[in-house]
Amino acid sequence: MEIVSSLLDLRTARLSLDGTVGLVPTMGYLHEGHLSLVERAKAENRRVLVSIFVNPSQFGPSEDLSKYPRDLERDLSLLRPLGVDLVWTPTAEIMYPPGYQTWVEVEALSKGLEGAMRPGHFRGVGTVVAKLFNATQPDKAYFGQKDAQQVAVIRRMATDLNFPLEVIVCPTHREADGLAMSSRNVYLNVDERRAAVVLFRALSAAKELHEAGERDAERLRARMKETLAGEPLAQAQYVSCADYDSLEELDTVTGKALLSLAVYFGKTRLIDNFVLG
Ligand code: AMP
Repeated sequence: MEIVSSLLDLRTARLSLDGTVGLVPTMGYLHEGHLSLVERAKAENRRVLVSIFVNPSQFGPSEDLSKYPRDLERDLSLLRPLGVDLVWTPTAEIMYPPGYQTWVEVEALSKGLEGAMRPGHFRGVGTVVAKLFNATQPDKAYFGQKDAQQVAVIRRMATDLNFPLEVIVCPTHREADGLAMSSRNVYLNVDERRAAVVLFRALSAAKELHEAGERDAERLRARMKETLAGEPLAQAQYVSCADYDSLEELDTVTGKALLSLAVYFGKTRLIDNFVLG
């Protein structure tokens, strides 16, 4: 497994990768969710490239950039046994050279949900992923359904900018109790960790209602809110039942829909989602 940081080293190493290349972009502090993306990439490509970069431009001024968990040695020791060929760990100076002023914005899809709560987040995501695609030239790129809006934004961006690659979406990897794996779960104290399963319970409750035939989106949102209200440590930020493709809030669920939510436990903000239909 080769580990490079500079652009020149990346280019040299990339040129030496023969056959199809699968890219797994991450911000590090890897968990089994990330590793499931790597395994899928390994199964579908001759070579696998993992990037590890905590991208400053997708964090708001009051967000957790400086305390975002980092442990490169641990990450590398998790990637080695999976047969990863190349790991790229660029610095912020490489990704955003002095005088930087070029941005990629996916307009409508970035407006609601996470985009509404985290202004500028998807401008940062779209920009960094476009740069990762340019630099690594993958055949396929792997992303988690855990970040549903990110997937929608990146798919749109890849199509709109004519990137010659396939965006592959992988299922959300969960802890035994249903909590979606996330690097941010380490912020939770014992009580918050126990409470955090309420995200999964709220989504499951709304999914059950949908399976029982409920098509009124407001009732599905209400079911999620009621479940969250039963957990005193959970402070819901938003609860959504949106069209899967446009991400616009629905009145009635007719086709594929996205149930999603963002909830605070103390200072820690967690997101999760289920796809209906
Ligand atoms: P991050 O390091 O949080 O930026 O995540 C890197 C990639 O891993 C993104 O495509 C995420 O959607 C994906 N990912 C994060 N958590 C999970 C999970 N629990 N299951 C599957 N994929 C995940």
